[in-house]
Amino acid sequence: VLSAGAAAIEVEERSLAHNYHPLPVVVATAEGAWVTDVEGNRYLDCLAAYSAVNFGHGHPRLVQAAKAQLDRVTLTSRAFHNDQLGPFAAELAALLHKEMVLPMNTGAEAVESAIKVARAWGYRVKGVAQDRAKIVVMDGNFHGRTTTIISFSNDPEARADFGPYTPGFVSVPYGDIDALEAAIDDDTVAVLLEPIQGEAGVVLPPESYLPAVRRLTSARNVLMIADEIQAGLGRTGATVSCDLVDVVPDLYTLGKALGGGIVPVSAVVGDRDVLGVLRAGEHGSTFGGNPLAAAVGLEVVRMLATGEWQRSARELGARLRGGLDALAASGAGIVAVRGAGLWVGIDIDPAIATGREVCEGLMRRGVLAKDTHGSTIRLAPPLVVTADELDWAVEQLADTLADL
Ligand code: PLP
Repeated sequence: VLSAGAAAIEVEERSLAHNYHPLPVVVATAEGAWVTDVEGNRYLDCLAAYSAVNFGHGHPRLVQAAKAQLDRVTLTSRAFHNDQLGPFAAELAALLHKEMVLPMNTGAEAVESAIKVARAWGYRVKGVAQDRAKIVVMDGNFHGRTTTIISFSNDPEARADFGPYTPGFVSVPYGDIDALEAAIDDDTVAVLLEPIQGEAGVVLPPESYLPAVRRLTSARNVLMIADEIQAGLGRTGATVSCDLVDVVPDLYTLGKALGGGIVPVSAVVGDRDVLGVLRAGEHGSTFGGNPLAAAVGLEVVRMLATGEWQRSARELGARLRGGLDALAASGAGIVAVRGAGLWVGIDIDPAIATGREVCEGLMRRGVLAKDTHGSTIRLAPPLVVTADELDWAVEQLADTLADL
């Protein structure tokens, strides 16, 4: 007889496309930083749905905003106005000191939208000749899974057998300002980058890099697009991670936590001189800007406006880093620890274990985390986690590594 968890996994294996390799845990309920599986086991969630659950599972303010809106109206399409979207857009733009918002649903859609906006800006404002627009991206990028976005990925797993690929992108080494400068020409409309590369393993560029990208793009009349879908909205200890180095890009892409872990909400945020290039009928989405999404997104924006979440991420992040740095120094098999705020990448000595094996060991000890690329694991617990819970998670990692 199969356990409840094993039975649930068997149904999934049979009925779902195998485009994921989940850890064998079947979550039934969740609250705050903790999830409970179908057999009643509890786990500390140290992934937070890739930072989509920054505010914790079932945050009362967000659940209340969603419930109230469920009883009013959930979907109108943009064929009509709704009374939630305007306030959401106005307050989101104000939070980021920008003028306009283009609402979408998923992260990949926000990135696709930013690409379209940058190309249209290139033709209509910068004066690039038709179909010549070029966008410079970074080696090691992750911006989503659509055919255009995977066209400029360097990850064979993301690309292979999905061509033909969309032209118009060139990729340069992340963090290398000379390579970027050499790649920019008169047809370049934008530089698209993650201020901190999430899926690559929480990789930070040199501190001078983003300010140098900003200076270079401004000087060359090229848009700077910061993909803050995973890094943004409190995770790194700032509203957006560009704030950490006082850089203001032309466009932000946001997603994940913007929907409060309840609904998919994404957005491109920028000023009128760029986002204003879109004309009626040129771009859209049936669900983009729906009133349920806008009501939840508005509450997210209001929560972030006080700065408390950002402060928690800084304080808790320092606690987690302290614990992990001490563990690494103790010779536990950790090669490197990197991060910003409550977001860390941990490189495990590949001679000891894969990231997957470490995550399986953590799971058996009640901690859920996810490996990324080989022997790197990422920790990104909800920002409602406590300092004691973080200390406990570090102990579980120490025990996991000791047992390998
Ligand atoms: N951009 C970044 C930086 C991401 O980390 C992700 C997802 O991990 C995406 C875009 C894609 O978002 P989505 O999975 O919602 O399409």
